[in-house]
Amino acid sequence: MPRKLNKKDKDDFRRLLAAKKESITRKLTDTITESKEMDSNVAQDLVDKAETSYTKEFLLSLSDSDRETLLLIDEALKRLEHGEFGVCQSCQTDIGGKRLVAVPWTPYCIDCQQKTEEELRAQ
Ligand SMILES: [Zn+2]
Repeated sequence: MPRKLNKKDKDDFRRLLAAKKESITRKLTDTITESKEMDSNVAQDLVDKAETSYTKEFLLSLSDSDRETLLLIDEALKRLEHGEFGVCQSCQTDIGGKRLVAVPWTPYCIDCQQKTEEELRAQ
């Protein structure tokens, strides 16, 4: 049974996701601004790109975990629009409410997340 989110819940999660997205983006912009003060043309180039669009270079300039989180946030926003938000993308069960509030961009329930992490460790 997919979780039924009312409009307020949806708005709340959309806001949470947008805030996290913004904080990652701002962190990147701050980093670039700092290097800009060190007079780097490359940094300026990145600032231009970051300001104009969501480019590959922009994503590549993020740390792996930030980049991954941004992509997960975008996917979570899409699920929110399609009414699939809060459902584990692996086993289709509802993701716990507390978990969703803590990591609203997570695609997996805690069990599947643990399984995935164990598989990664085993590699
Ligand atoms: Zn699951």
